[in-house]
Amino acid sequence: MEPERQLIADALPAYDVGEVLGQGGFGVVLAARHRQLHRRVAIKQLPRAVAADVAVRRRFTAEARVLASLDHPHVVPVYDFVEREDLCLLVMELLPGGTLRDRSTTTGLTAPHAVAIALACAAGLSAAHERGVLHRDVKPENMLFAASGAIKVTDFGIAKVVGGTETLLTRAGEVVGTPAYMAPEQVRGGELSPATDVYALATMLYELLSGVLPFTADGNAMSLLFKHAYEAPTPLADVAAGVPAPVAEVVMSGLATDPGERSATAASFGVALAEAGTRAWGPGWLSADGMPVVSGAERIVAPTRGTIGRPDRPVAAGTSGSPRPPVGGGPAPSPRGAADAPDRDRPVDVTAATSAPQEPSPSAPGAADRETAAVDGDVEPDGAAGRARPRRSPWATAAIAVVVLLLVIAALLLLPRLFTVYVAPVGGMVLPALSAPRAGGARRRTGDPPRRPGR
Ligand code: ADP
Ligand code: MG
Repeated sequence: MEPERQLIADALPAYDVGEVLGQGGFGVVLAARHRQLHRRVAIKQLPRAVAADVAVRRRFTAEARVLASLDHPHVVPVYDFVEREDLCLLVMELLPGGTLRDRSTTTGLTAPHAVAIALACAAGLSAAHERGVLHRDVKPENMLFAASGAIKVTDFGIAKVVGGTETLLTRAGEVVGTPAYMAPEQVRGGELSPATDVYALATMLYELLSGVLPFTADGNAMSLLFKHAYEAPTPLADVAAGVPAPVAEVVMSGLATDPGERSATAASFGVALAEAGTRAWGPGWLSADGMPVVSGAERIVAPTRGTIGRPDRPVAAGTSGSPRPPVGGGPAPSPRGAADAPDRDRPVDVTAATSAPQEPSPSAPGAADRETAAVDGDVEPDGAAGRARPRRSPWATAAIAVVVLLLVIAALLLLPRLFTVYVAPVGGMVLPALSAPRAGGARRRTGDPPRRPGR
């Protein structure tokens, strides 16, 4: 065994150490397997030369602590941490599905799939934001797929605790991050907030949907940074006309130069995305996509029974090159999104599809006009208002029919007595054949005179 690997094996005796999974700016990542538990893990090692640097070492330890404090289905879980002499090891869940970068360039992604991925990442980032942690390096290379198919946010290597007295990883004002995804305030060394991660996430989604970045600078990092700080991004509709307008609108809002004009948190960005997806593809778009997403915005994308709009055809994404053909082809959809598209279900107002009343979210793009006609399974259009009302179930109809039948039988049995008591005294000639048999089997004959009370 080579010395480096032997050191790791000695530090983590419970594990069989395997192949190299990846190498990044801050360390090498190795596959391993717990001998007793048979659990496969990824071990991130800080290179020994780098581990000697106190600042970098603190950065690495900080990443481990940040990750250990987060418990979210879309954040990679940490199992263990070892720090001794010049060795720093972080043991975490092995994510064998590769990076989002690999996935987008090899198999391609449909537009709903890309939005679902962004939604999951927003949920993971939101968990970090709630703990006061900014990721600061959101990009497709740092999003990895688990064996379950779920995407997880990884590499909190340059994370920062918001508002803390200690900047975890860098001196105040130091520019860190990846230029293509860096927010204007990050470029300028300004104050960072969760909206900084929202910007990078919006950039990532823009790229997934169009195949190009919102800013390009022919590989010149300084020029790219300048553009991020001071210029307006290319509208997504210009490079991916097939992306539904509500979705494009949310992506572009996340790219606002002024952080105050973006969603303030990853959670609110995720909610806006979920709502835009529902307007574009109808409720159920997320489950139809098949990717496990625990977003906290499930109500917004809750499916109704029945037909679910199918996603668009695949869009591959890369970092450069000419814009891809529009997603779904054809001209850009109207601001009401796929409501006008012939090949999809029209969007259903989720407040109508679920029983609990819900206030429209003020952050929702076009929330006020979401009250659209329902088209599938559980709801049916209700006149010109276009509201959805519940459809009666077949069981309820059958129960009502049985009750009506029993009432009719009871009425038929009681009628003769009624006629005897109330009708006969008056007329005596109405439906005499329905008269009930008397005790002793005597039956009144048609021509018998009416009985009178007291006789
Ligand atoms: P860096 O800080 O150097 O960018 P990363 O944490 O991003 O380090 O890891 C670098 C590479 O290692 C990733 O791109 C990926 O290929 C691989 N990798 C990282 N974490 C895992 C993991 N949990 N499971 C599988 N592979 C991983
Ligand atoms: Mg990385």
